[in-house]
Amino acid sequence: MNEDRLKKWKEQRQKRKQSLNHDELLAGILAGDLQSLSSGITLLESDKAVDKKIAQQLVTSCLKHSGNSIRLGITGVPGVGKSTFIESFGQTVVQRGYKIAVLAIDPSSERSGGSILGDKTRMNKLSVLENAFIRPSAAGKSLGGVARKTRESIVLCEAAGYDFILIETVGVGQSETMVHSMVDFFMLLMLAGAGDELQGIKRGIMEMADALIITKADGDNLLKARRAKKEYENAMHLFPPNKNGWIAKTLVASAYENYNIDKAFDIVESYENHTKVNGSFFQKRKEQDKYWLHETIADILMSDFYSAERLVKAIVEVEKEVVEGNMSSFEGAEKLMDLYKKE
Ligand code: GDP
Repeated sequence: MNEDRLKKWKEQRQKRKQSLNHDELLAGILAGDLQSLSSGITLLESDKAVDKKIAQQLVTSCLKHSGNSIRLGITGVPGVGKSTFIESFGQTVVQRGYKIAVLAIDPSSERSGGSILGDKTRMNKLSVLENAFIRPSAAGKSLGGVARKTRESIVLCEAAGYDFILIETVGVGQSETMVHSMVDFFMLLMLAGAGDELQGIKRGIMEMADALIITKADGDNLLKARRAKKEYENAMHLFPPNKNGWIAKTLVASAYENYNIDKAFDIVESYENHTKVNGSFFQKRKEQDKYWLHETIADILMSDFYSAERLVKAIVEVEKEVVEGNMSSFEGAEKLMDLYKKE
């Protein structure tokens, strides 16, 4: 692109941005317009006060049109085959007549400067489908910030009529726990024969899984994958039962050969039936809403506390006292809280 064209393009884009108002965006989103949905999510991610205001109004307006999707979390270590699986799974969802949105979370992206979906050209086949929407990673300074953006993006996607919302995250760190607390169904992808430790998958994450999928079950790997499935099945028997009565499923699948991808979808559907019949589906969502209410309060308080000018010096002083053993951590915290509450 030459300079002139680039300038023109930027001007046009700027104009488009300025003309984005709440009503236009809302109408676009409700009509299922991809551009409006994209712009809405961009506003959610913006740090500008004007954008934030419109974004907030938009979320509130979309809220009453939301809730009608199945929210799926998907995790696994880098290289396990997440994006390849999602590409194949997403096509299955679309073939069955549904719309799917894929959102990605990568809390580390702020540091690495990249994003899980953004780095590679991924999901080429899925991204061109009319009924698929793919949004690269929501990055942010804090996990709480990323969580909020993702939760709000889910609301916008639901208002735009997506039946399945898939949230992808990398299988390291705390992001799984966060994703788990915002989805209906949690899927863990694993490799055969790599060993749990090698994969960095903690027992806690396996316990959260509603389905465990052994990926790359093709060629020489198929037998190994089947063996791994048995082992995981045995291990998972020992976990405490889910309170919603669902027994976690294990499956071997190959995205390359499109093997058992439809089964993965069937598992999700049977989970939906199971939990909607026994009432736990909406109960879980209510609990999640409550959880996020308190998480958000904690987040707001934390950021208010740490951004308070009057505390900056005191925090450093108390930290020093604590480190030098002159004050206990609890005493120090109470002292700072007293100071915080004073004004
Ligand atoms: P991610 O980092 O978890 O998203 O993993 P990718 O989807 O990028 O896949 C990692 C590597 O595994 C790539 O080289 C893929 O081509 C390969 N891969 C993904 N799915 C399969 C599969 O079903 N079978 C085989 N044999 N390889 C796969």
